[in-house]
Amino acid sequence: MDEPYRESPVATLGPNKKHCFACAAVLDIRAELCPRCGIRQPVLPGMPASTALTVPGPRSLARTSRNKTTAGVFALLLGGLGIHKFYLGQTAAGILYLLFCWTFIPALIAFVEGILYLTMSDETFAERYPG
Ligand SMILES: [Zn+2]
Repeated sequence: MDEPYRESPVATLGPNKKHCFACAAVLDIRAELCPRCGIRQPVLPGMPASTALTVPGPRSLARTSRNKTTAGVFALLLGGLGIHKFYLGQTAAGILYLLFCWTFIPALIAFVEGILYLTMSDETFAERYPG
């Protein structure tokens, strides 16, 4: 049960050296690949190399880059020109609103849409208008 271990080679390492985790060859502490066995070295916290790669980007936090209040205000104030549609990435609809803005029908629809944007929950808004 109690197997005798060899003396750890870690004690002989210089401050800027580390051991390959696969073959235990001595590497520079910043080495990403072991030149002996070719195994990529794991990035440990506190290591100077590649630590930025482990930081999660903002993409994992926000479900939508669009703000429903902004969309609602656009719809209420500039809805007749389809500005809120362009804001939400619905360019084709925005162009339709622009083409028919002289009929004031887009303005009426946009007014209703603006109320909807402002009253719907953040979750519903993010679901309908992801990105
Ligand atoms: Zn190695």
